[in-house]
Amino acid sequence: MIFVKKKQRSEKERAEGMDRIARTIFAPIYPVLAAYFLDRFGRRDGVCIDLGSGPGHLAIAVAEASEMQVYALDHSEEAQAIARKNIAEAGLAERIVLLSHDVGTIPLPDGSVDLVVSRGSIYFWDDLHTAFSEAARILRPGGMTFIGGGFGNAELWDRIVAAMIARDPDWEKRYEKNMSPETIERFRQALVGIDGVEGEVVRDESGVWVVMRKA
Ligand code: SAM
Repeated sequence: MIFVKKKQRSEKERAEGMDRIARTIFAPIYPVLAAYFLDRFGRRDGVCIDLGSGPGHLAIAVAEASEMQVYALDHSEEAQAIARKNIAEAGLAERIVLLSHDVGTIPLPDGSVDLVVSRGSIYFWDDLHTAFSEAARILRPGGMTFIGGGFGNAELWDRIVAAMIARDPDWEKRYEKNMSPETIERFRQALVGIDGVEGEVVRDESGVWVVMRKA
């Protein structure tokens, strides 16, 4: 049997590929998710951070749907370079600040953020407990997190899953693992022992979200 090894993509190629998908197949999900997070949070002002923001489309959607000051944090310089361009093109350079950092060491003070959002990045995090603890640490009283993955609503979900599988059959395996009960249980376990917040994992038609609330 002959095995054909897939060519390893560079970080720049990966970031560009992510931006291409975010601009096409995933494009409709960002405004839907931004509205979902903001509606559940119940406010449209204050400070928001998007963890693992990639090319910046969710951070842009949150800024466009609110009056929030937004931070877009990602550890990939290549993704940040694309995000910088996308944010400038959206005319939001004054409202969205890029942070080149790991989710395990968020460079913001305790109690300085009202809303933490994150889509599709959690599956790459090595240490969920540390990342969740950091998100809890930076939350202000009354703050909330939505950290997880999803496609916004049932109709978008069906459309996007079909389009992604048609594009790359291997994607289905990764997707099934990401949405599996074992993965959701791993999120729950990582919440254990985080002080000062109430945490739960919420699964609905928009996605799977680690929701923490600081009283
Ligand atoms: N959230 C964006 C979206 O939905 O379009 C991008 C999702 S992309 C699949 C995952 C992003 O998470 C990548 O840009 C990657 O660099 C970032 N990421 C992964 N692990 C990270 C970590 N430990 N700290 C910061 N960023 C991380």
